[in-house]
This record gives sequence, structure tokens and C-alpha cells, in this order.
Amino acid sequence: LVQVKNLRKSFGDNLVLDGISFSLNTGENKVIIGPSGTGKSTVLNCINRLIMPDSGEIWLEDTEIVSAKNINEIRQQIGYVFQGFGLFHHLTAKKNVMIGLTKVKNMSKKEAEELARFELDRVGLTDVDDSYPAQLSGGQKQRVAIARALAMQPKLMLFDEPTSALDPELIGEVLNVMKKLAEEGMTMLVVTHEMGFARSVSDEIIFMEGGKIVEQNHPENMFKGPENERTRQFLFKLD
Ligand code: ATP
Ligand code: MG
Repeated sequence: LVQVKNLRKSFGDNLVLDGISFSLNTGENKVIIGPSGTGKSTVLNCINRLIMPDSGEIWLEDTEIVSAKNINEIRQQIGYVFQGFGLFHHLTAKKNVMIGLTKVKNMSKKEAEELARFELDRVGLTDVDDSYPAQLSGGQKQRVAIARALAMQPKLMLFDEPTSALDPELIGEVLNVMKKLAEEGMTMLVVTHEMGFARSVSDEIIFMEGGKIVEQNHPENMFKGPENERTRQFLFKLD
């Protein structure tokens, strides 16, 4: 479904991505881990082209994203959830989910309302339809953000540290929603420091450092005996 080929990006003389290549099959869930400042967010931002790479290719099915002219059409196929939620503060939870449907997909209000209800249910939110973001917990806000992304029926979901702004007791509810999505077959690329999630939910873990992929491995292999010494140091330091 997704193929990233030899992605390179510098900001000034700061080389941030130094030839990143990986692929993602339909239904696969890959987790990117690695130290701060290593280019993980930059990879996700290149995929939805919030950042333009200097070179390389990104394929979503038959479409090459870096050179694509219809980037807005492509972005509709890619759900993006990040640590800051990005909800509209003046809209209720349900309206936050509906707005892309009525404004971008030209859905009728009634249809959008039904789909919003369905997606809020899917993330376990049954009684916050009319609440504003300020009235919701961080975990609820993040689940509204996930529901909003899902409502656009994306082919791919990108998550950039979706739980790192949350109080510890709220992290589980968001990870559980993500786990359920993975089990339902959603194709997902997740940047996270949650090693339990990486280990139990992902199909493969990508360890990045210094703008390169140092190791790409099945979670069991990665945790039992990382092939690379740097991966070993990173995983042990976190434990
Ligand atoms: P973290 O774990 O802290 O989120 P990360 O692996 O996601 O880190 P990136 O956010 O991708 O790292 O940043 C990689 C490097 O690129 C950093 O040195 C950062 O300062 C730099 N960088 C990222 N975005 C920009 C930008 N828009 N302009 C200039 N430099 C940037
Ligand atoms: Mg980041």
C-alpha cells in the first residue's frame, strides 16, 4: 500500500533524513521508535507532504506523493493523529467529526451526523457528542481526533506520539482504540514511545537514529535480541 524510497531531507545544513526506505502492506501496523530529533515526525510529515522532501519517492498505491499535483485529494486518504489533538475548540465533539464530511466530502448533514455517531462509537465515546473540547479529558479529545480521521475513510492512518501529551491514566484508553483499529485491519504507521504497544500490537518495529533506519525487525526479535548494538542500547535505556 505504501512504499517509501530513499527519502532525504535537510533543514539548512541539518541532514534530518538520510535515505529512508520502508514499505507498508495493506493491514500492516508498523511502529517507528528512536531518540528525539532523529527524524521520526519528519517521515510522517513527508508522507502527507506537510514537509516536502529533497529527494526520494513515496507511493500510496499507484500515486507518487512527492510529485503529486492533487495533494489535497491524497491527504483525504491519509488520517493523521498527533499529540496536540488539533480539534476545533468552538465545535462540539460530534461537529468536529462531521466538519470534514460536510465541507470536504460534501456529505449531507444527516449522513455526516450518522457517520460521526458511528465513528464516535467505534472509539468508545457514547455520551460526549455535544461536549466541547474544553469539557473533555485528554484521552477523550484524542479519541475524538481519531474518530474524525476515521470518518474520512482513510487508506492509511499516521499517528505521531498520540499519547505523549496524556496523563498516564488516560494513555491506555487511546492505545486500546489503536489496538482495536489494528485488529480491524487498518493500515497504520505509529511513532510512539509506548514499548508495550509496539511489542504487542505492531507487525514490525523500525528503529531510527540520525536520519537512518538502523534496524527493522519483528517485535519479538527486536525485544529478544536486537541485531544492532544501537537498538539494544536504546531499548535498554528505556527499560
Ligand atoms: P521527537 O522524538 O522529539 O519528536 P523526531 O524524531 O520526531 O523527534 P523530528 O521532529 O523529525 O524528530 O526532527 C528532526 C530534526 O529536524 C530536528 O533536529 C528538528 O529540529 C529538525 N526540524 C524538524 N522540522 C523542522 C522545520 N520545519 N524546520 C527546521 N528544522 C526542523
Ligand atoms: Mg516527533
